[in-house]
Amino acid sequence: MKKYNFNAGPSILPKETVENTIKAIEDFAGSGIGLMEVSHRSKDFEAVVNEAVALFKELLHIPDGYSVIFLGGGASLQFCMVPFNLLEKKAAYLNTGTWASKAQKEAKLFGEVVEVASSKEANYTYIPKNYTIPKDADYFHITTNNTIFGTELHTDIDSPVTLVADMSSDIFSRPVDVSKYGLIYGGAQKNLAPAGLTFVVVKDELLGKVTRAIPTMLDYRTHVKENSLFNTPPVVPIYAALQTLRWLKALGGVNEMYKRNKEKADLLYAEIDRNKLFKGTVAVEDRSLMNICFVMNEKYRELEPEFYQFAVSRGMVGIKGHRSVGGFRASTYNALPKEAVAALVETMQEFEKKNS
Ligand SMILES: *Cc1c(COP(=O)(O)O)cnc(C)c1O
Repeated sequence: MKKYNFNAGPSILPKETVENTIKAIEDFAGSGIGLMEVSHRSKDFEAVVNEAVALFKELLHIPDGYSVIFLGGGASLQFCMVPFNLLEKKAAYLNTGTWASKAQKEAKLFGEVVEVASSKEANYTYIPKNYTIPKDADYFHITTNNTIFGTELHTDIDSPVTLVADMSSDIFSRPVDVSKYGLIYGGAQKNLAPAGLTFVVVKDELLGKVTRAIPTMLDYRTHVKENSLFNTPPVVPIYAALQTLRWLKALGGVNEMYKRNKEKADLLYAEIDRNKLFKGTVAVEDRSLMNICFVMNEKYRELEPEFYQFAVSRGMVGIKGHRSVGGFRASTYNALPKEAVAALVETMQEFEKKNS
């Protein structure tokens, strides 16, 4: 049976990424040696890093004065690396979900943290809009897409202080005005590559300003200076990321991705709104294009396990909602074809017919 992969992360990757990486694992760059068995300092691998950085800059239209680095440790390590490198006295955070709140918790180890707004009281079903960013903060941290709760910031906000964003689950899903950000980071396993790789886009002039000592490995300057090759980086995920970036470019880049993602999300949200069994869980204007959360209406709530089984029998994979939301979550990342969303919509329609 055909499987439709709606996993939230790690998640679906382009077929080309998987196939090309398998080939390289067997024979890297025609060398007769596998990708996992060559030096990360070989000319061929350095070329992989350089091309990945160049495509990152090209596809996101990153202005001069920014560096792109590849690290290990996941987005979660960035929760502490960001304040380690940028927080001198005070930082501001917008609390829009589990990840945002975890990021904020780490920052408290380094200085004063101001939570400018939070939607925790409503189980993060919306993104707070009217708040004041303290002008004396070293930076303002946001999570552009809240993977667990299914909300997303649809514009690049104006911040009077350096803007830092966790873009783990919406990087390359839409155009971004990088010039508005001082630092963008994320785990690669949602929209780019297998787990084990973290990307950081950082404005060079922000580094080296804090007075504290920073351990070498946690200092962004180390990795900027050494072009992500200070120590052994996650070689296979970087290679896979390069394949995804090439795929993105060939398809037309982030504008084309945004168009496709919008189409997929519109299709599914329209069905959630139309189908009498289901309803969305978040404020309509904040609905994520990447993680679409929905539950069954109260009247039908007891049918949730049955719908889940029905969907599984139709080839749907990974649509169980996160335990903090319940119901269902369909992750519709870049590599997910529209056909998969259409199959889920059809499944929802058939289930409605069966139950009316
Ligand atoms: C998945 C995710 C994380 C955690 O990523 P790790 O790489 O597992 O540390 C952080 N932030 C967001 C928005 C995520 O979706």
